[in-house]
Amino acid sequence: MTKNKLATVTLKAGREKSAVRAHPWIFSGAIQSEPSSGIEPGGAVVVRDARGKFVAHGYYNPHSQIRVRTLSLNEAQPWDRVLLERRLKAAIARRDGINRDLTTAVRLVASEADLLPGLIVDTNHNHVVFQILTAGMERMRSDIIELLGALLHPITLVERSDDRNRLKEGLEERKELITGSQDQLVVSCLENGMQLLVDIWNGHKTGFYIDQRDSRKAVGEYARGARVLNLFSYTGGFSVAAALGGASHVVSVDQSAEALELARRNCELNSTHGVKFEFVQADVFDYVRSVAEAGEKYDLVIVDPPKFVTSKAHIDRATRGYKDLNLYALRLLNDHGVLATFSCSGLVTPQLFWQVIFGATVDAPCQLQFLRQLQQAEDHPLLASFPESLYLKGFLGRKIPW
Ligand code: SAH
Repeated sequence: MTKNKLATVTLKAGREKSAVRAHPWIFSGAIQSEPSSGIEPGGAVVVRDARGKFVAHGYYNPHSQIRVRTLSLNEAQPWDRVLLERRLKAAIARRDGINRDLTTAVRLVASEADLLPGLIVDTNHNHVVFQILTAGMERMRSDIIELLGALLHPITLVERSDDRNRLKEGLEERKELITGSQDQLVVSCLENGMQLLVDIWNGHKTGFYIDQRDSRKAVGEYARGARVLNLFSYTGGFSVAAALGGASHVVSVDQSAEALELARRNCELNSTHGVKFEFVQADVFDYVRSVAEAGEKYDLVIVDPPKFVTSKAHIDRATRGYKDLNLYALRLLNDHGVLATFSCSGLVTPQLFWQVIFGATVDAPCQLQFLRQLQQAEDHPLLASFPESLYLKGFLGRKIPW
């Protein structure tokens, strides 16, 4: 594709600043003139400022509020297969530092944070799962499949583009087994030496919450001798980490029976003999109330709920949800017990999350000493130009009586 054939998006005067500073999203409100009709959703465009000066190369979608995702600030390098291949190779190479003797569940491509907006690629011991979230990446789908095959030689390649966010891009959900066998889709991988089963076909999102790797390790370090309550356990990553860290009793709570079944198998797999495991299928909000009323106490409580905040309009309601949960978690803790609490809502900043947890301590009432501040693991990088890339925050703190 030669650049003079590219459709042009022209920005309003002064609205090029964030794109020039490498923020990858251009919203409809910043645009003076859209490309003339004929461009397909997801097609490559060149972005120019109001005076006609080059700003960026990117891809365009008239169905999305984010009209353009920028991919290149180099005029000589448009968005095409060459750039896709280069970025894919570079993202994969950046993960070379992760010790594969201990960890084989790795996010290889983290969308915007790897300069490939709309594309997620995870590997689980070379069973590879990818997700396409934008029309621009959808247009590259056959190249993506070919390149992942050539670069990774996966045993299994699964597309998990069954994500509702695709609707905002005018795309339907898709789930497809591209390479591999339909009856080998629960795969075994390692995380810091733990052996974990991942259901890459029926599991949530791409199958496993790889982003919590560092936090699971941290929790393991505070588990010696502990009675542990793992709320929103999913497939039991934190439960296994706590058991291997020396916990005496681990209760995993989730609403999903399938997730709990895998959690049970994961706990068994790691030869955690002598640890008492319980798996409870329940709504966590109801469960914490009932165990609090029953006077139960724990030494370590993990609170890792799903994303509560999906738009700015929901922040107040969601922060009330976080506060309630954490208030119960604090009440369920013995004095000097440890709380590991998380928010994966990008719209909840670390400062706001601190305030919410502080509010819970006021009502509990107790003091909480933050021992560690936690965030998504390094294969989910934070991009300086893109604050939205920080979405997973957590605190690990010790409850101190008043
Ligand atoms: N801590 C997990 C990831 C948690 S994901 C890990 O380390 O892998 C969030 C989980 O919360 C999902 O398993 C989902 O089934 C569960 N969930 C969501 N809402 C819930 C509710 N109200 N009660 C119980 N579980 C819930």
